[in-house]
Amino acid sequence: MTAVLVINSGSSSFKYQLIEMDAETTLARGLVESIGADESHIVHDVIDDDGAAESFEQTTQIPDHTAGFTAMLDAFADHGPSLAQHPPVAIGHRVVHGGARFFEPTVITNLVKINIQDLSELAPLHNPANVEGITAAQQTFGDVPHVAVFDTAFHQTLPPEAFTYALDADTAKRHRVRKYGFHGTSHKFVSEEAARFLDRDNAALNQIVLHLGNGASMTAVRGGESIDTSMGLTPLEGLVMGTRTGDIDPAVVFHLHRRADMGVAELDELFNTKSGIYGLSGLQDMRDLTEQANAGNEAARTALDVYVHRLKQYLGGYVFQLGRVDTIAFTAGIGENSAQVRAETLAGLENFGVKMDAARNERRSRGIRVISADDSTVTVLVVPTNEELEIARQTLSAV
Ligand code: ADP
Repeated sequence: MTAVLVINSGSSSFKYQLIEMDAETTLARGLVESIGADESHIVHDVIDDDGAAESFEQTTQIPDHTAGFTAMLDAFADHGPSLAQHPPVAIGHRVVHGGARFFEPTVITNLVKINIQDLSELAPLHNPANVEGITAAQQTFGDVPHVAVFDTAFHQTLPPEAFTYALDADTAKRHRVRKYGFHGTSHKFVSEEAARFLDRDNAALNQIVLHLGNGASMTAVRGGESIDTSMGLTPLEGLVMGTRTGDIDPAVVFHLHRRADMGVAELDELFNTKSGIYGLSGLQDMRDLTEQANAGNEAARTALDVYVHRLKQYLGGYVFQLGRVDTIAFTAGIGENSAQVRAETLAGLENFGVKMDAARNERRSRGIRVISADDSTVTVLVVPTNEELEIARQTLSAV
């Protein structure tokens, strides 16, 4: 049996998942959070053969990531599965920003770590935390290869006309300003799953993937390669999100600075954490938003309309970039669960070959499924994403 441990590390927390790669099943997953606070928490789920989870929780004090890894090892020892019986052959780390340097899963050397740290200027919240997780994992699992899997990597196939902003070229070059794109692990996984499910050759397919979670992005995929994506230099560009603006006239920044005396930090916070559907309605969760919109709450209805309008705008753009579309795939929390968002996004597109089947769209199921009508030219799917499994696959392929 071959096991891979996947680590997704934030500044004060990390998630982990132990995956058995022969059958691609998760054996355990967990979350260590509030690292460095007075009270830290660890949740450790042991998954049985039927996929049912038994959950163990503990509150303790975990001063740093290395102590967090020790707490994780204790949880494995106390509750199973035994790491001696399932020793990870490699540790896969999710790294948010790989810049233009990293386009494939990369075995982590000292130089790779320095490069990830160097890219922190493009992802100041994420890359330093990823490096901290890598260092702690290396201290805990010294002999095992560690692999970095980048959120940006799948989008390194974008052609220059898609990744170049029409900004002064020297300034852009000096400060590495371009579109990088994110959620790449999910877009890759979902487009490959869709091709496999439809028993089609991915190399011959044109797909559009809508990853709609708290963060949201859309990608145009031609023959298995990302050719355009909605997120940019950072994960702020593009679609309307839970708390992020997505696209906005950049002059709004100058305007608010001049008119409202708002500084960079304040604007950053406003655009990233106080905007999106939350900023428009006070509701961040799509379940609440659709419920309120349907109950006649005007702000909620407007927020939902703005959300869907932006989705249609990108969808239309990608149809024209691709020329022909074979599949549209919905994924992540909203994409997988909100029949209403899917229905409103694809309403009225029959002339473009998109014909939904309302009953299929409403049906709830955990697995991958088609929700378009049999006579729809474009096949519309719901594809549950699994970023951890994709990281584990890529990790294994790199060692
Ligand atoms: P993240 O980007 O944090 O990984 P997820 O992909 O888990 O987020 O998506 C989280 C979002 O999914 C929630 O904020 C919620 O809006 C939405 N969501 C989850 N379940 C449903 C549901 N049944 N109906 C509509 N939206 C849902």
